[in-house]
Amino acid sequence: MTPLPVDAALPALLDALRARGAAVLEAPPGAGKTTRVPGAILDAGLAGDREVVVLEPRRLAARMAARRVADERGEKPGETVGWQVRFEDVSSARTRIRFVTEGVLTRRLLSDPTLPKVGAVVLDEFHERHLQGDVALAMLRALQRGARPDLKLVVMSATLDGGPVARFLGGDDDPAPTVRSEGRRFDVAVEHLPRMDDRPLSALVSSALGSLVTRGLDGDVLVFLPGAAEIRRAMETCADLARRHDLLVLPLHGDLPPAEQDRAVNPASKRKVILSTNVAETSVTIDGVAAVIDGGLARVAAHAPWSGLPTLRVQKVSKASATQRAGRAGRTREGVCLRLYTRHDYEARPEFDPPEVKRLDLAETTLELHASGVREPRDFGWFEPPTDAALDAAESLLRDLGAVTATGALTPTGRAMLRLPLHPRLARVVVESARQGSLDRGCTAAALLGERDISAARRGAGLAGGGGGWSPREAEAHGDSDVTALVARFEAAAAQGFDARALRDEGLDPGAVAAVERVRRQLSRVARSVESEGTGASPGDADEALRVALLAGYPDRVARRLRGLELVMVNGGSAKLDPRSEVQRAEFLVAVDAEERTDVKARGAVVRSASAIEPEWLMELFPDAIRETVEGRWVAADERVDAVTRLYYRGLLLDEGRAPPSPEAERAVADVLAREALAKGVSHFAGDRDALDRWVARLAFVAEQFPEAKIAPPGDDALGEALRRLCEGRRSFAELRDAGLLEGLRAGLDGTQRALIDRAAPERVTLPGGRAVKVHWVRAKAPWIESRLQDFFGMAEGPRVASGRVPLVLHLLAPNQRAVQVTTDLAGFWSRHYAGIRKELCRKYPRHPWPEDGRTATPPAPRRG
Ligand code: ADP
Ligand code: MG
Repeated sequence: MTPLPVDAALPALLDALRARGAAVLEAPPGAGKTTRVPGAILDAGLAGDREVVVLEPRRLAARMAARRVADERGEKPGETVGWQVRFEDVSSARTRIRFVTEGVLTRRLLSDPTLPKVGAVVLDEFHERHLQGDVALAMLRALQRGARPDLKLVVMSATLDGGPVARFLGGDDDPAPTVRSEGRRFDVAVEHLPRMDDRPLSALVSSALGSLVTRGLDGDVLVFLPGAAEIRRAMETCADLARRHDLLVLPLHGDLPPAEQDRAVNPASKRKVILSTNVAETSVTIDGVAAVIDGGLARVAAHAPWSGLPTLRVQKVSKASATQRAGRAGRTREGVCLRLYTRHDYEARPEFDPPEVKRLDLAETTLELHASGVREPRDFGWFEPPTDAALDAAESLLRDLGAVTATGALTPTGRAMLRLPLHPRLARVVVESARQGSLDRGCTAAALLGERDISAARRGAGLAGGGGGWSPREAEAHGDSDVTALVARFEAAAAQGFDARALRDEGLDPGAVAAVERVRRQLSRVARSVESEGTGASPGDADEALRVALLAGYPDRVARRLRGLELVMVNGGSAKLDPRSEVQRAEFLVAVDAEERTDVKARGAVVRSASAIEPEWLMELFPDAIRETVEGRWVAADERVDAVTRLYYRGLLLDEGRAPPSPEAERAVADVLAREALAKGVSHFAGDRDALDRWVARLAFVAEQFPEAKIAPPGDDALGEALRRLCEGRRSFAELRDAGLLEGLRAGLDGTQRALIDRAAPERVTLPGGRAVKVHWVRAKAPWIESRLQDFFGMAEGPRVASGRVPLVLHLLAPNQRAVQVTTDLAGFWSRHYAGIRKELCRKYPRHPWPEDGRTATPPAPRRG
């Protein structure tokens, strides 16, 4: 075996494991961690006669590492050294070193919680901080502290600061030993684009490659691109250049056949240009790389905000990743890195990517935690805990799906879901499909929804969507569901043997179709085990069975169509149905996929993929979420309340009808009438506009003047309460207005109080000429009257209220109805001001008599007004 830098660190690592059972190994990429550590542990006997399991974050890394390690031991993979990834298992009874991907380990922990066949677990590339890696670390640590103190744990990483992991493994006071292997690093000259360049990435790659060639290329070139599609395009644009300069252009990504992956890594006779995803960042080391071209992008795990389903999103890599990528040119000598973005762009990037546990949907992880006996995921011993909001969302989805009970226990449905390597929504769809006797279609639908969209021509090309899609051409045939239409398209493609030309003609992406077909086939195999869950019902209408199953997987996304494309969602939100959706008639549907718009003008979600449902299905699937109520319905046009019975699925109204008379109905009507009446305002129901205010002002006046009478003027609450009582047995504003609110309030006082109010705070006073004048009662103001000046002739003193204690404020009006004086002191007016004002009045109104002494003058006869 060729010596590798990490060899020197192995004795220290093995010592640490012997002494403490756990260790952290930090060494740069290419040091030999993946190749040498698992074998060293096995050969040192640290796993006893059990297995060494190596956890890899990528399928490609697991497979390549297994082949390399087997090769170094002079064996074939599947003998001592094997690998196991989702849907693929290359191992045997002899296998002692098993490279696995994260999901495999988690599921193994669930089926065999104490890992009886495992002696040591190596968590490789822990710096990636994948969600599953975090969870595996925490579960393994718990296992080591509990049933398996003999289990050896090694955490390996290329870039991570190992401190926190060491403390997590050993405790704050006594962290697990950390072993480092520095290795030699050479300088890499990093060059950025001088300015932004709008050309496609593939064009930038070929000009960068051209520039390297012009400078005199010496060694291989490693190009970082986000995904297979970008790699394919770049291969095309570089083909010419490669031919002219005799370069071997090779792709490297997870979807390639193993032989092609090996070709990219193995030494070649020609100079190589390897177009790779970020697997070459730290997972795979290619010897002989002298130059790196960094596109600056990566496809990273994300989830669709609407459904939580996993997707991949192209995004800019962090500074830490960019540094790693550049470093790949300086492993054995000085190198160069051309970045296809500006220095400014680089400077604006985050130092690190946040770990997945802080940003991904947690539904699947939370289901696994429940399955492993964690009732309260908040209390799980996380390496780094997720946010409470993310955990709550995951928990409530699992409850909605019927996977866990309110107390966090796994249900039989949850257990069946767990057998499917799918997001819980899709797992629930498959389980329900089995129950509906339509398992195969369920698997097809789950594969279509879980994998990249198979439609070739869709906006956002290059980004994997969360599924969905529609086919306007078949709208006639499949008007009930965008998903059944998609399944039909896929089945039509299958019937044609997935011929690539035919697929393209149909507007389908052959690569995406192939990926779906792979998953569909693998799912169908695994899903046989849930078929026993089925009722054995033979599929009636297969489309209908699938639509029922979709409802089971999206119970929180049920919507009702209001009018046109307007939807109201079960959670109370609103959304719009995409006009291209096929579901143009159904009143009820599940919104399988939607896009949240955030622009100010058009807020809310646009549902891109929908599936019609029947309300009866809700009652069958979710009987506990159905409620029937008797409610009042406000008929605004008639200012009236009708009693109705309403059927709800959670908050969503399913049906409404007239309620037969009952005490409950009457109460409901009164409640709504009261709500509407209070919103309108109490005074609206108390006679003329100011009647209520007047009444309250009079009460307040008397209460103040005669505290011994113990009159309490009603506050807003008491008035509201009085109105509310009045609503009982009534159903409209008209009835309420006739109900005599004021009379009722008055009747609430005793006779003495009523008499006192009428006497001390009268509604009218009579002036000498016999004219009855209205007293203005306004709260917190002195009571006042207004009348023509002449009406006061013959009065020495003004009228008084409150048994003579309080003089009224008098507004003395000229014939033009303007006040010539406002006073409480009529005597003083006559003596001091009248003479002057009289002169003026005589001049202006000569036809009116203006006697000299108002005190003794005779008032004119009362007139109307
Ligand atoms: P690490 O895990 O520390 O990043 P690896 O164990 O992957 O390092 O690689 C160690 C060394 O082995 C590297 O120099 C790499 O070039 C070399 N190597 C890895 N895979 C192969 C292979 N298939 N053929 C030849 N050399 C390989
Ligand atoms: Mg490695």
